[in-house]
Amino acid sequence: MKILNTIKETKEILRAEKMAGKTIGIVPTMGYLHEGHLSLIQRARAENDIVVVSVFVNPTQFGPNEDLDKYPRDLQQDCQKAESVGADILFSPSVGQMYPEGYHTYVSVEKLGDNLCGSSRPGHFRGVATVVTKLFNISGADNAYFGQKDAQQFFLLKRMALDLNMDIKLHICPIIREKDGLALSSRNIYLTEEQRKQAIVLSLALKNAKSLIDAGERNAAAVIAEMVKTVKSSELADIEYIKAVDTETLSDTQVVGKSLIALAVRFGSTRLIDNMIIEV
Ligand code: AMP
Repeated sequence: MKILNTIKETKEILRAEKMAGKTIGIVPTMGYLHEGHLSLIQRARAENDIVVVSVFVNPTQFGPNEDLDKYPRDLQQDCQKAESVGADILFSPSVGQMYPEGYHTYVSVEKLGDNLCGSSRPGHFRGVATVVTKLFNISGADNAYFGQKDAQQFFLLKRMALDLNMDIKLHICPIIREKDGLALSSRNIYLTEEQRKQAIVLSLALKNAKSLIDAGERNAAAVIAEMVKTVKSSELADIEYIKAVDTETLSDTQVVGKSLIALAVRFGSTRLIDNMIIEV
C-alpha cells in the first residue's frame, strides 16, 4: 500500500491508473479506523481495481466548540489496518494541502443539512460537502463508500453528486456494531465505563421502535415517544434529538413510511448518533 500526502502525487498516480482502464473506489474517513471503516474498505476492495482510503480530520466540518483538537488520531495504526483489508493507497494530506492560504470555496447543499445533526452543528455539512467534493476531484473515483451510521451525510452527499453532475456512484454500507448493539465510532473511546454501559440505549431505542413499526404502528410521534422512554432509562443520557424524517427531504414526517429514524444522544461531552432506515 502506498501512503501519499500530496494532492499532486495522488492525482498523478490515480490518473495513470484511470488511463490504464482501472476503476477506482474511495473511502473517505477521518481516521482512527475501526471495523466500521474496514467494512467500507472491504466493500470497495470487492468492487474496484484500485482502493483509496483518505484519512483527514477535516477542520471545516468542526464547530468552534467541537472536538477537532482532541479528535483521536493514530496514522500508523490506520495504515496497518487499511493495508490489512486490501487498500492500495492511503491518502493523508495536511490541512495546508487541503486548505492552502487564500482558500475560499465551499460547497453548500441547501435544506438537507438543516435538520437532525445540522441543527446543532451549523456549518458541519458545508464542511463535509466541501471536503468530499475535493476528495472526489483529487481521486477521480468511480465509486465512493459511506456508512449508514452517518445517514444524513450520505443522503446529502448523494443529492450533491446528483445536483452537481458528478461522475461518481455513492454506496451506503450497513452500520457495524459492538456485540451489545452500540454502533462503532471513533468517539466511543471518550466514554467512561458507566457511560459506555448505558450507551446501549441508542440501539435499544431503535430496536423498540422497529418492534412497534413491525406491529403496525405508523404514527411517528408514538414511535418517537417509545424511543424517548427507552433512552431516558439511562440517567447519563442527554437527548439532543430523536426524529423520524423523510429520506428524500430529510424533513420531519408525521407518518412512518420511507423514513430515516435517527437519534443523537450526549453522554457528558460525547455525542453519539445512531439510526435506521424504514421502508413501509
Ligand atoms: P468518520 O471517520 O467518522 O468520518 O467515518 C468515515 C466513514 O465511515 C463514514 O462514511 C461513516 O459513516 C463510516 N462509519 C463510521 N462508523 C461506522 C460504523 N459503525 N459502521 C459503518 N460505517 C461506519
